Amino acid sequence: MASLTSLLILANTLGAQLPQARTSGFNTGSTCYEVFVRSFHDSDGDGIGDINGLIQKLDYINDGGRSQKSDLGARCIWLMPIAESPSYHGYDVTDYYRVEPDYGTNADFKRLVAEAHRRDIKVLVDLVLNHASSEHPFFKEALRDPRSAHRDWFLWSVSKPAVKGPWSQDVWHRSPVRDEYYYGLFWGGMPDLNYKNAAVREEAKKVARFWLREMGVDGFRVDAIPYLVEQDGKLMHSPGTHAVLREFATYVRTIAPGSFTIGEVWDSTSAMLPYYPDQLDAHFAFDVSNAIIEAVRTGSGKKLLEPAMQLQRALPANRWAPFLRNHDQTRTMTELSGNIPRAKIAATILLTLPGVPFVYYGEEIGMSGNKPDERLRTPMQWNPDRSAGFTRGSAWQPLQPDSATANVKTQEGDSGSLLNLYRRLIHLRAENSALARGTLVPLTASNDAVAAYLRRDGNRAVLIVNNLGASALSGVTISSAAGALPAGRYAVREIWGRRPAGRLTVGADGRLRNYVPAPTLAPMQSYLLELPAPAR
Ligand code: CA
Repeated sequence: MASLTSLLILANTLGAQLPQARTSGFNTGSTCYEVFVRSFHDSDGDGIGDINGLIQKLDYINDGGRSQKSDLGARCIWLMPIAESPSYHGYDVTDYYRVEPDYGTNADFKRLVAEAHRRDIKVLVDLVLNHASSEHPFFKEALRDPRSAHRDWFLWSVSKPAVKGPWSQDVWHRSPVRDEYYYGLFWGGMPDLNYKNAAVREEAKKVARFWLREMGVDGFRVDAIPYLVEQDGKLMHSPGTHAVLREFATYVRTIAPGSFTIGEVWDSTSAMLPYYPDQLDAHFAFDVSNAIIEAVRTGSGKKLLEPAMQLQRALPANRWAPFLRNHDQTRTMTELSGNIPRAKIAATILLTLPGVPFVYYGEEIGMSGNKPDERLRTPMQWNPDRSAGFTRGSAWQPLQPDSATANVKTQEGDSGSLLNLYRRLIHLRAENSALARGTLVPLTASNDAVAAYLRRDGNRAVLIVNNLGASALSGVTISSAAGALPAGRYAVREIWGRRPAGRLTVGADGRLRNYVPAPTLAPMQSYLLELPAPAR
């Protein structure tokens, strides 16, 4: 197989001809893994995860092909903020050019990038452009001195404007120094940067250049992009925000043509589509995430596929990212009330849809977690020991109560575990062209509890049938619109183990008619069936 680098170059060459399809090789079956460094692995016993701890665990994420697939097989990691910050989460940065000392040094980080690249793992870092920390030296200077050179890097008002934020929050905060207010969408500790100021836009580019050129990253996950520019009373999705993103993304593409940028627009797909075609490369598909969780939670497949179809109609598959949950959301296992079979179906759907899937650390072992935010971001559970193998000291945040069972070591030894399912699916997705880049073809099932679809790449296809319900179903039939598959007789086989699974005949119109994939569909079970090129 061609290296990811050559595919990146190829994709970018193609991108020059196809403005809609520009960008990177993340459409080649890659799965990304979201890591919270503070909670991943602690190398020095201070109870805080760190860069060296992450390096020690890179083989878990991807060992570069050395083992027989006992790694997760992810080809990219997204690190939540790692720049210096006074908070545990890091979304309020005080020095954009320095790794948070709790996590290590810039030299440690460069070693991480080298070790990741040795294993074919791309490294994306969280870039927080919308706001800085109220402890950032520029803000402190601007607060103290209205004539400071950095005064116009932030937004000020002599009286408190009545306007509230998108979730009715206070966005104007009283200065602790004098009788005035500053703007901070999220909270007073995060003053928004003023992107109408060209100096701020130049600084954002300088920060991007530093991480790409000096630190060697492959791209960015850009935080909270809808809020960059406040304009004519619009606090989100303003024309100015799109203009800033265009300028920033053009710059990143110019200096790092093989890079990948993905933005957080925590909103509906229709609110996200105006961020294409010429801004960041990709965005997270929150509607797809919600549809998967809802389908699996309620046991109905009726509304599962439409969000992914909407994206497929509008965008190339390498420009959007499905996921189940991220660091801001109740974990999948908690949403599903601890039901492991349902979590397995959710993983199967996520990793068999188009797009560039992202997996939040710990989801693959079914870690639980609910608000407050700290409890969504608890230490990774490596083994059943008292500190879960996360630290030899005292963990910065207590473990989840499920750490004795939901841990890597326990699940590694169980071929039927959620972890081993994630591993198989991520590797399969990378190797099977239909799952890596095939078109999503929705199918209709005779029972609403069944969600069925094809991924088709030319004359190669995979059929995915999920019984989302709690009951076994007999004689469920599956049908399609015309043109779903090339005409012919298919010797269907199970994807795991390649066992024969009956025959399927598709007529000249390419339509599936009342196909019965299995006499009985077991409750809460997914079936992955391979349709090799048909006999005529
Ligand atoms: Ca540490």
